[in-house]
Formats: sequence, C-alpha cells, structure tokens
Amino acid sequence: MDKLNFIGEELNRLEESGLSVHVRTVDGPQDAWITVDGRKVFNLCSNNYLGLANDRQSKSASQQAIESFGVGPAAVRTIAGTTALHKKLEQKLACFKEVESTLSFQSGFCANLAVIPAIVGREDVVFSDELNHASIIDGCRLSNARVIRYEHGNPDDLRGKILSEGSVRRRMIITDGVFSMEGDIAPLPEIVKIAETCEAITMVDDAHGEGVLGRGGRGIVNHFNLQGKVDIEVGTLSKAFGVVGGYVAGSKRLCDYLVQKGRPFLFSSALTAADVAACIASVDKLTASDNMVKQLWENTGFFQERMKRTGFNLGNTKTPITPVMIGDAALAKDFSQKLFDVGIFAQAIGYPTVPKGRARIRVMLSATHSQKDLTWAIGHFENIGKELRVL
Ligand SMILES: *Cc1c(COP(=O)(O)O)cnc(C)c1O
Repeated sequence: MDKLNFIGEELNRLEESGLSVHVRTVDGPQDAWITVDGRKVFNLCSNNYLGLANDRQSKSASQQAIESFGVGPAAVRTIAGTTALHKKLEQKLACFKEVESTLSFQSGFCANLAVIPAIVGREDVVFSDELNHASIIDGCRLSNARVIRYEHGNPDDLRGKILSEGSVRRRMIITDGVFSMEGDIAPLPEIVKIAETCEAITMVDDAHGEGVLGRGGRGIVNHFNLQGKVDIEVGTLSKAFGVVGGYVAGSKRLCDYLVQKGRPFLFSSALTAADVAACIASVDKLTASDNMVKQLWENTGFFQERMKRTGFNLGNTKTPITPVMIGDAALAKDFSQKLFDVGIFAQAIGYPTVPKGRARIRVMLSATHSQKDLTWAIGHFENIGKELRVL
C-alpha cells in the first residue's frame, strides 16, 4: 500500500472544493504588464508597490555586488563572517525606519521565526490579532508561549483578554501593521496605550506598511507618530523594497540579542550580496524622494473610488491592498479566470488564506500602473461582475 495515498485524496478534495491554488509561470521582470503563462497581462497581483523590483539602479548595484562579492555567502554569518554590505544595509534601514538598529534575515517569514521565540517562551503569553500573518502564527508556535487570539483590530477585546489572564512572566502583543488580505490598518496607538498599562512587549509586522504608510513610506510607526513606543518591528524587503529578505528593527540591544538567539540568523545562510546591494539602492531611492509613494496613493484613490462607484464591495481597506469581495471561493476563481482571459492578472484568494465564504479578488495597486490602464481594467471588472451577478 502507498503510505502517501492520503496526499492524492487531499489534493482531490482541494480541487473539488475550488480551494486548490494554481501557480502561474511568469516570464521577465515584475512590472505593470508582465508575461504570464505566455500571455502579456496587466499585473494587479504583485507586492511591487513602488516598481523597485525592476529598478535600473537596483539592478546595476546588484551586478556590481556580484563582481565584488561573488554569488554566495558560503556559510552563516556567525561562522563565515558578514560583509560590509550587510552592515551598511542594516544601518541605512535603521535610519529609514527611525530606530536605533536593525538586523537582516533571509525573509520576513524568517524574521518572525527568529524574533518571537527569542523573546517569549513556555512561561509567557502572546496576545495575537486573529488575522495575523502565517509567519507570526508559526513564530508563536515555535516559541511554545501560550497564544491568546483577540478579535481582529479590536483594542477592547485585547484589553479584556489581557485583564482576564492575570499575572505571567512576560506578555507580548503582536499585530500585523497592515493586514495583507483586508488592507486595513492595526489600531496601533490604542495597542501601545494598553501595553503601557500592563507592561506588555509590543511588536508590529510592517511588511505591507513600509514603502506605503507614513512620511515617504517609513511605515506604520511613523504614520501614527509612535517613534520609540513600539518595542519590536518586523519588516520585509520583498514587497515595497522590491527585492527579497526581512529584518527586525528596534533597539541595538534587541539586535545584539538576536545575533545570539535568533535561530534563522544562527543556522541559515544570509542574503546574498546581490540581494543586499539591491536593497540598499531601494532604501536610498526611497530616502531621497517620496514621488513613488505619492504616485502609489494617487493610483489607489483613483482605482478604489471608481470601483466603489461601480458597485463593488471593497471591505474595509485603508491602503493599496484592495479586496474585491466575491464570497464563494469557486465564483472568485471563475472571476479571476475571466479577468485573465481578457488580459488582467488578479488572483482569487479563498480559504484557508481568508475565512470560508469570504473569498475575494485581491487587487494590489502599484505606482507603476497608469490611470488609463486602471480605467480599462475597471471596465472589465464591471462587465464580468454583471455577467457573474456579483454586481
Ligand atoms: C508578506 C509578509 C511576510 C513575509 O515576508 P517575506 O519577506 O515574503 O517572507 C511576513 N509578514 C507579513 C505581515 C507579510 O505580509
């Protein structure tokens, strides 16, 4: 008997319920228009908010770094050492994020797996927003801390749950800054206030906030003017920064501690020099000008206002993440396929990424989009919406 038979059964079940994911093949660089499965399509899927994934200066910095440092780091940083480039990126990021220090990781996912278990353990409690990203959930599991989920974005529920918990060694409150499937923003000022009254450690994952929120895209802490009031920030270099990688931002002591205790730092090789050089170019570009961020918000206002006027339900978004609510997962997939057929790449998102019955097309706006193309896309959304009786 095949011991892995259950895999086929599970795959069939996913396929039949319309919940299986299909990964399309992309040719060429990320941009407003990309080639997917051999077709040129308008790209409404990517986290390339500012167009930095195909930035000329980033690419040339990357090429130079390969000439100077080669292609591979050869071992983890604690064993084979680290490059001056990695340190430079960490300093520049600290400056940009208005914190004392940052430490880079291989991805945002790794940054969460590194920092949460280093801060809390078996004797501690994490209060976690129920819609937090999977990497936060996994980081919490690895920590062995008890996890208490509070209602999404609800400070009253958070306060009540902390009060009813009584005394523990350490409390930590963790939230996404911008929620990646909803596009809404965490009530960070209220969370910080609650944390002050009960001495909880605060942590925010700003993956969809940096490059988007705050002055020149400095992120959610800047957006709410909370500099110095959030203990730990996690960030990614794979979204607005356009490359790949992640980091933890906070005090120098925190970053020193993670060099000793962050397992993905200690036991997995670092970003390559080419990645790091491209990230530095991205941070430099964002530090120098807020033009891209402004364009992103202009496009966001333009698209969302027209889609609402057309009759679509965009949930509670406050950012360029635009959930076009459909409801049924199979219907959302159908919608996405019809969009693709007319040349628009926008993914359907269903369970388990979002709750059952809350399937949606998630549109990600970018500074690279032209308003002419967005208008054209809205026309197709309207036609397909009517055809499928979503409107
Ligand atoms: C995308 C995302 C991550 C993962 O970032 P990667 O760098 O792609 O690993 C982590 N947290 C949140 C909130 C995210 O949206």
